[in-house]
Amino acid sequence: MYWLAHQQMDRLTATLEDAGYRIVGPQVREGAIVYDLLADPADLPWGVEVEQGPGRVRLRESGVAACFQWANGPQGLKPLVFAPEEPLWRVERDGDGGLRFRATLPDCPPRAVIGVRPCDVAALRLQDRHFLGGGAAPEPHYASRRERLLLVVVECGHPASTCFCASTGDGPGLREGYDLRLTELEGGCVVAAGSAAGRRLVRTMGLPEVTAAQASARRALLARARAAQSRRLPEGLVEGALFRRLDHPHWQGPGDRCLACGNCTAVCPTCFCHRPQERPSLEGESERVRLWDSCFTPEHSYIAGRVLREAVHLRYRQWLTHKLDGWYRQYGRSGCVGCGRCIAWCPVGIDLTAETMAILGEAS
Ligand code: SF4
Ligand code: SF4
Repeated sequence: MYWLAHQQMDRLTATLEDAGYRIVGPQVREGAIVYDLLADPADLPWGVEVEQGPGRVRLRESGVAACFQWANGPQGLKPLVFAPEEPLWRVERDGDGGLRFRATLPDCPPRAVIGVRPCDVAALRLQDRHFLGGGAAPEPHYASRRERLLLVVVECGHPASTCFCASTGDGPGLREGYDLRLTELEGGCVVAAGSAAGRRLVRTMGLPEVTAAQASARRALLARARAAQSRRLPEGLVEGALFRRLDHPHWQGPGDRCLACGNCTAVCPTCFCHRPQERPSLEGESERVRLWDSCFTPEHSYIAGRVLREAVHLRYRQWLTHKLDGWYRQYGRSGCVGCGRCIAWCPVGIDLTAETMAILGEAS
């Protein structure tokens, strides 16, 4: 492992740029930390921390010269690989007045994303399984963005009160699935390379090796971060556990409070539902686009002339049973990586850990 001092953060960004990457990094925008193109390492969220609770997110000054002392913002990697809105194909007139169907693939340059969290690497792995299908039939729009993505992960030393990645096994540290891995300590970051591209970048940066004290400080930071998480998914959450309780009276509780706004599915880094939309044009230049969808909309269950899940508690039940039960059969694990975003960004603060505990009869 190597040491990158805070004052040398521009060495990381310059090396990435020289290697041909456009850099995407966390920045403060309108009261949240979001990923955007990063022009200068000075634009990282220096001295910012985030207070998160159910239905509550507030940024405040930390007074500490550090740039990764926050858990996560509303976005994971999902919007960078699975666009919220994307044309799939267009119809165009040819010179003879006929119509031609043209597939539209994104023109995506290589991108290096700085500040990716371990839970979001786990979510990306799940999205890969869904969209790339083990390589047998990759979805071309997702694949073209995904294959040019370089991950500069930051291990989580400062989980929010909404985080529970330790209970899902997806954080706060990370052993694999990254190109570069940073762990921020006082004065700088411990750096590790996890791929051939990462090792080339580390060699180019010419960083010194970490001291024994820095390596031990990293371990201590991650142990504290793990111990600081008080939320968890219930022990009894195994395949079939929620499906066996479809008639549990507790489903009505979150259903009564839920606004069916879809925030939870929009911020969830593993949700992948989408719907097609035709955009016809009288000139013959029509297109078909793909839009993010949510199981909280009435249209999501519109089948054969009727909405199957009119009642909101049925939509909440659909979301939770798919995410925390159906995924075991589809992908061999639950669809939750413990990022806590759906708790923090839910306007009424519905907490899936508490609701699942109540349905499985466990105390939180
Ligand atoms: S269900 Fe909630 S906590 Fe779990 S991955 Fe999705 S947003 Fe994160
Ligand atoms: S659970 Fe919360 S975020 Fe999700 S749809 Fe209901 S009100 Fe919106």
